[in-house]
Amino acid sequence: MSSCCSNHATKIITGICPQCGESCKSVEHKTLYHQVKFPENQKISLDKYYFCSSEKCPVGYFSSTGHAISKQQLRTYQEIEDDKLCYCFDINADHYLSALTANNAETLKNFVIQKTKSGDCACDIKNPSGQCCLAKFKALERLASSSLVN
Ligand SMILES: [Zn+2]
Repeated sequence: MSSCCSNHATKIITGICPQCGESCKSVEHKTLYHQVKFPENQKISLDKYYFCSSEKCPVGYFSSTGHAISKQQLRTYQEIEDDKLCYCFDINADHYLSALTANNAETLKNFVIQKTKSGDCACDIKNPSGQCCLAKFKALERLASSSLVN
């Protein structure tokens, strides 16, 4: 689909968060170094690291050998707290939900899709998960349509 979201050379594997038990996806070291604050970034080892995306869990990253880095030690901590949807273009979940209500969500999403296609996004370093945000847009759409039905 896009240059930044589908061409990851390294295979994503999953690990279980030692704190909350969620199944979490692995991240590249490049993501870690752009996310973890100094001086915690000095302690990152060569082990495999995973990102816990659970909003309720204090753990940000954890390694296969038990090293954990809390969400508070991430440079995106405030954005995680704000429920950021798209870290590349500064779109919060709230922004997208109001766009869905106002019927211009398509415009917003197409902007992101287009910028992603032209390679102007930087999910692999901006997003703490290292993943493209478009899946989260779809998840929100499902959430919004189910709450409209109720
Ligand atoms: Zn967790």
